[in-house]
Order: sequence, then C-alpha cells, then structure tokens
Amino acid sequence: MARDYDQLQRSAKDHLWMHFTRHSTYDTADVPVIVRGEGPYIWDAQGKRYLDALAGLFVSQVGHGRTELAQAAAKQAQELAFMPLWSYAHPSAIELAERVAGYAPGGLNRVFFTTGGGEAVETAWKLAKNYFKLTGKPTKHKVISRAIAYHGTPQGALSITGLPPMKAPFEPLVPSTFRVPNTNFYRAPDQFQGGTDEDLERFGRWAADRIAEAIEFEGPETVAAVFLEPVQNSGGCFPPPPGYFQRVREICDEYDVLLVSDEVICAFGRLGHMFAAERYDYEPDMITCAKGLTSGYSPLGAMIAQDRLMEPFLKGHESFLHGYTFGGHPVSTAVAMANLDIFENEQLNQHVLDNQDAFRATLEKLTDLPIVGDVRGDGYFYGIELVKDKATKETFDDAESEKLLRGFLSKALYDEGIYCRADDRGDPVVQLAPPLICDQEHFDEIEHALRVVLDKAYSLL
Ligand code: PLP
Repeated sequence: MARDYDQLQRSAKDHLWMHFTRHSTYDTADVPVIVRGEGPYIWDAQGKRYLDALAGLFVSQVGHGRTELAQAAAKQAQELAFMPLWSYAHPSAIELAERVAGYAPGGLNRVFFTTGGGEAVETAWKLAKNYFKLTGKPTKHKVISRAIAYHGTPQGALSITGLPPMKAPFEPLVPSTFRVPNTNFYRAPDQFQGGTDEDLERFGRWAADRIAEAIEFEGPETVAAVFLEPVQNSGGCFPPPPGYFQRVREICDEYDVLLVSDEVICAFGRLGHMFAAERYDYEPDMITCAKGLTSGYSPLGAMIAQDRLMEPFLKGHESFLHGYTFGGHPVSTAVAMANLDIFENEQLNQHVLDNQDAFRATLEKLTDLPIVGDVRGDGYFYGIELVKDKATKETFDDAESEKLLRGFLSKALYDEGIYCRADDRGDPVVQLAPPLICDQEHFDEIEHALRVVLDKAYSLL
C-alpha cells in the first residue's frame, strides 16, 4: 500500500502536467491525490476526509458518489457510446436541448452543446460575429467584458477575460475586447461609500453606464456583445447591485449589442435557480453554461441562444461553421438528464433558497476576525476577502499575498479538512461554493475550519 502511494507520487511528478499549477511546490511536498467522494466529502489516497467546499471547481452540485449518474453513463455507453452532432443527432442530446430550453428564460430556445465553459464562451462570441455578418451589420465584432472577470482559456475566451497577468504569456490574443469596471461594491469609488442601499443602487447604475460609455468609445457599429457573469467569481464573488442588469439590458437594446450571461458557474442551482438570469430578473441574448449541468459526472457545456439568433442559419445554404467532436457527447447528455432529474426529485434549487440565509449568516460570523474584510455572495456562492487592516481596507502587497495565500492558507485549509481555494487574481479571497446538498452542519464545519486557519494566518502576519 505504502509502495503504491509512493509510486503514484513519483509518476505524478514525472508525468502529470497539472492545470494552472506551480509544479515547484511539489519538489518538497506530496501532490494531493483524491481517490473517492461521497455526498459533500472527498477522501485522499491516505484515507483523510475533506469537506468539498468548492464543489470540485463549482461543479459537483448533487455531491459525489451518486450511483444513478454512474448508471446513466454506463447505460448510454452500452447503448450508443458515440455519435457527433454534426448533421446527425441522438436522443439524449435532443431531449436535453428541449429540457434546457424549457428552463432558460423567454426566447432562449436554441441549445448548442460544447464540452465545457470556455468552448461555450468561444461559441457565443463566434455566433455574435456571424449573426451580425448575416443580418447586415458586418462591422459589429468587438466584445466588452469586466475587469478581473475570468471567461476561460481558449484564445477568444482568454481575450474576453479581464486578468492581464493570465493573458500576458499568450499575447497577442484575439483582438477587439475591452474592459469596464466590475461590481465590487466593497472597493467602489468613494462617492458610493455612504453605506446605504441607495449608494449600492447608484453604484450599480454607474457601473452599468460604463458599458454604454465603452460602446460609445469604440463605436456602436463595431460592438457585437457584452459578456457578464451574473455574480462575478474572479475577485471574490461580486453580486450585481439592484437594477444593474436591467440597466445593462436597456443599454444593449439601445445599441443593438448582444448580452451574454456567462453562467458557467452561476447556472444549475448555484444561486437557487436553474439559471441565474432568473434570480436577477433579466433576459440575456445568450447564456453560456457547463460545470453543474452534469455535476461533473461527465464533461459538457452549452451555449443557449435566443431563437432570433438562429434564424439566419435556418435558411438556404447557411450554416454555423463551428463544432466540437465531443460537444454534446451521448454519455454526457444522458448524465445531464439524470442529473437534472435529481434536481427535480430532490428540489435542490428550493433547498438552496431555503438555506442560503443560514449559509450567509454562518459565514458572516467570521467578520469578527481582524483579517476578514468582507463576506459577499449569494445562494451557495461566497467570497471572503482578506485584508491587512479592516478599518482602512488596506490589502496585502504581492510578497505578503504570496506568503499568506500560497505559503500558508491553501495548505492550512486543506490540513484542517476543507477543500477550497485561496485566490489572489484580484484582492486576496477565499472562495466557497459547496455542493447544493449541504446544510447547516456543513456550513458550521466550513466556518469552524476557516476560523482556526484565518486566526493563525493573522498571527503569522
Ligand atoms: N466562464 C466562467 C465564468 C468560468 O468560471 C469558467 C471556468 O471556471 C469558464 C468560463 C471556463 O470554463 P471551462 O474551464 O469549463 O472551460
């Protein structure tokens, strides 16, 4: 047994290229190897249990170890393991498209399957460009997105991403994308720091108007789409201020710019609804989604479009020259159907709505710690921003951030039995997004572990 573990470690270090990973960390430490999951818990190769407080990577909505999803995959693989969606179809893709269209708001009835979120974002941008070329506005091609927002790693999606250090190694990327401010109210300009609900609404209006300004700056005849997450993950969970999306919708209508709701994280129950646009009461032109669609039992993503965006492709010789071999893979679409059955049977969205206030209240207990500057989010999706000085909101410099997050926090949380992420793509935050089956018992477990670790972190400083 011990030799097996050592061998696994050696092979991991010799052969496995992990994603977004600083491999030198493992020169002197073991690679964490997770071997099993059950409900909201995962176990490592040495038998230690962890609460999966990030649902893997915002993915495992129904939790781990669901035999009905494994069975759905096996049954489909036996019946028809593969058929592409290139001019052919298979029943579970057809049924899933209909079901997803049924959940999506208003006229969002056309579902284009991908294998993941980045491909869904890529697909949305290509559709926006192609749609305008076919409808007499061929110069509309640019994209507006928000500072610090992450939209994926393909070169188009990465171009839309608002994280310069993540893009720099791969420049030049696809040209024609532009950033506007996000909805980080904690660090909003001074004029909105009065602490009232009205300040929040005024801030939302101001942030939305920056999109109109960017469209004007670039020329409305050149702008095709705006990509926004309902709650922005990167930077640590920025929910939209009241009225924000309503104002964005107005702006997009005024300039004939497509509103893309990037719900790769926010869809499928993360905020207590199948789609977050429903929670915040707006109707986008496209939705991009992935992750929770299958709860990770098989890879799948989708771009969902308004009927009118497909219309030009329904005539004559026209077709959308875009696709992926594994987009809408039969095993994945069958698993998605079974996953959505679990959502319905166990009323998971209602469970999130019933427990979201308790989750917030439990995490807010941490605000008594001197290092916790802000606790923000919605549903089962939270970010805890860490600060050096609560009164002034002073953040950590690069060296402190490095010492705190990479040197201490990530490992300390893991040692304490919590799998989650400490992230410094914006200001330093701890990200939390537990499986949707979690309740008070698990919230308490998260709070307790964070309290122990954040206390130690502060004394280290
Ligand atoms: N868009 C958003 C908002 C995301 O959070 C992510 C991934 O976390 C992506 C796109 C990219 O998805 P994927 O990693 O499945 O390509």
